[in-house]
Amino acid sequence: MSLENSANALSAVLISLVVIAYAFDAIVDRLNLKHSELPVPEKFADLYDAEKRQKSLSYEKAKYGFGVIEGVITTVVTVLALAFGWAGALDSFVRGYSTNEVVVSVAFFLALGLISTVAGLPFSIYRTFVIEAKFDFNTTTPLTFITDKLKGLVISGVLIGLLLGALASLYQVLGTNFWFAGWVTFTLFSLAMFAWGTTVITPLFNKLTILPDGELRDAIVAYCTSQGYEIGRLFVMDGSKRSTKANAYFAGIGRAKTIVLFDTLIEKLTTEEVVAVLAHEVGHYKRKHIFTMLYMSAFQTFLLLGLLGVALNFDAISLALGGDVASFHLGALGFLLLLTPLDMVISMISMAYSRAKEFDADEFSTSTYPGPHLRSGLAKISIDALSNLNPHPLWVKIHATHPPLMQRLEALDVANGVEQGS
Ligand SMILES: [Zn+2]
Repeated sequence: MSLENSANALSAVLISLVVIAYAFDAIVDRLNLKHSELPVPEKFADLYDAEKRQKSLSYEKAKYGFGVIEGVITTVVTVLALAFGWAGALDSFVRGYSTNEVVVSVAFFLALGLISTVAGLPFSIYRTFVIEAKFDFNTTTPLTFITDKLKGLVISGVLIGLLLGALASLYQVLGTNFWFAGWVTFTLFSLAMFAWGTTVITPLFNKLTILPDGELRDAIVAYCTSQGYEIGRLFVMDGSKRSTKANAYFAGIGRAKTIVLFDTLIEKLTTEEVVAVLAHEVGHYKRKHIFTMLYMSAFQTFLLLGLLGVALNFDAISLALGGDVASFHLGALGFLLLLTPLDMVISMISMAYSRAKEFDADEFSTSTYPGPHLRSGLAKISIDALSNLNPHPLWVKIHATHPPLMQRLEALDVANGVEQGS
């Protein structure tokens, strides 16, 4: 087959993949919506009162309906871009300004990022100011929204520019053997991001304050001391700046290990419930979930970059995207699209892993800080966020980093030896 024929065949494959992936997603979302309407088991019937349950279903419906529109538009635009070689056109455009391959690759990705951010703005605005606002979650002001987007563009531009610049330079020097050195670079970069992200990047978007002295701090210190967890970096974040939804998370490694509690969490939960949620985060640290997660993602990029090294041998990939010449950036972009099915499998594996670790952290919390507090705290957070009690199992496999609420409560009941209903 000539290079041109291979490129045409490949272009057809890419278009089919985009359409199939969309159709699959649409079916799963539809199943999920239907599943969410199923009645809640007797045991959990009192989680929602009738009015709130109705509101939760309306929230699911609103998100679903908007997702359909967004999905259709995105898919149509992607298919058009592939059919008419828009990526190739962008490549030619960038080449009008530079002949340096590394500069061209970086400029190509930055331009692509800028275009997709701008194109995604209407969706983002609608989601924040219409859907989230309608269900009383949104607290983002237009000014915060605009500065978030601008800051996000600049910061991701710098970070992605640096990382891709490094990868494209390695590719220029080492050819398709670049992938191993590329993997080392990528891994060091993500480690640095993970270690210092909360220290360097989070404060650009949010205010992190030390939890003030008082009942809550005393309770947290007492718990952490009992577990031999050095409290070091414990922050309260002004999550209320954007949303009323409550949350907490663990980040960082070594001395930079950090627990962040949203101000909305402290506001909504009792002292004991906050400690139980914090105990869950300490569990992620104590049970070494963070490290296994880092190893797993390092292995994942090892696999991906190794395959990319192979894929870059095929000039047809760049030509299939409409490029006149083969290049690192078009090859990489086409490769990522081709990878959609494998990517889905990998993502399902890592989501399954993540959900297992959530159960494990819950178990840690309830065994080191006994009582009904984690159960009631989790229920409050989820119900307040109008969580879907009945997500479809397939939807959970594909999208959920956390297990559905009822499964988590069930597991806690088992761990606490609460008698099971028949
Ligand atoms: Zn967790």
